[in-house]
Amino acid sequence: MKGKAKHRYFSAIALALLCFLLAIAIPSPPLALAIAHYPSDEIPGTQNVTFPALPNPSSAENTQPSSPNNSNPLFGAIDFHVHSAPDIINRSIDDFELAQMAANAGMKAIVLKNHVTTTADRAVLASKIVPNIEIFGGIVLNQPVGGINPDAVEAMTKLGGDRAKIVWLPTTDADYHLKVFDKPGPGIKIAENGTLSPQTEGLLKLIAEKHLILETGHISPTEVMLVIDKARQLGIENIVVTHAMADVPGLSLDQMRHCAEMGAILELAFVNELMGENAVAAGHDKWHRVSVAEMAQAIRAIGAQHFILSTDLGRPGDPLPAEGYKRFLEKLLAAGISPREIQIMKRENPARLLGIKS
Ligand SMILES: [Zn+2]
Repeated sequence: MKGKAKHRYFSAIALALLCFLLAIAIPSPPLALAIAHYPSDEIPGTQNVTFPALPNPSSAENTQPSSPNNSNPLFGAIDFHVHSAPDIINRSIDDFELAQMAANAGMKAIVLKNHVTTTADRAVLASKIVPNIEIFGGIVLNQPVGGINPDAVEAMTKLGGDRAKIVWLPTTDADYHLKVFDKPGPGIKIAENGTLSPQTEGLLKLIAEKHLILETGHISPTEVMLVIDKARQLGIENIVVTHAMADVPGLSLDQMRHCAEMGAILELAFVNELMGENAVAAGHDKWHRVSVAEMAQAIRAIGAQHFILSTDLGRPGDPLPAEGYKRFLEKLLAAGISPREIQIMKRENPARLLGIKS
């Protein structure tokens, strides 16, 4: 090595050593603080996402989770279905920002959902970054993970550990979803001629064995009934009918009641109130609006003990999830649902499903 090169070589080593010593000597800033200052264009995979102004965790207002008094409707609430970046479609906030905002709002837990990849591992990472909130994930069995694929579920549970909670049957790749939205098929079928496929049955056995929560996804009403019936026979304790009143699965009141009688919990998602011809978020004009007043009717008819609440929010144009959740609760109250019924649906039922204290 010649003189100059040698000098540069040793300078580089000295600099690296100095950086290392500084890194171990200086305590790192709180990670929550670090993520709040993440410039949006430096977050990989989210270049198209518009980031809203984040609450500043260093201000007194935001350092403490909201107090457990009645003035904060979100205290202890659980959002069982919410979307964040990175994703293959635009999302208004990323996993860390979503978790931070929910924690700041005093919420108890969130469940990350993504239609193309597992979120259990992301929940592990987000849990390390954002304290004071429980973060869970799962896997949606769409084409990118091989459809009804037990190997993907196995891997998800190993990646996520105690953060891995939910298996959703196919959603946007479900055969029924493609038919309802007039898209070319065929999509993923879980049953043929009124009988569940052997693959689906094998999957249900695995879900039972691993004590995971089964969510029905975007399958047809008939398939929802078939799958709940078989899941109960196989010993799956926790079953959720994904946004039961949305176009997919689009259950009638009687069908919802039947699911509840079989022991399934019915999910109501605030995003459905924002859908329909006046929808702001891209693509949501293709869905029918389900008003909170209609959801309230279903709660009154079937009983709050059979429901959970979620937002299913995350698209630019829609309110941010915590804000949407708050509006959802206000509208349910205005529609005559009692604070006690809301407590059951926003907090007690979802906590029981997730195996956490409410
Ligand atoms: Zn969703």
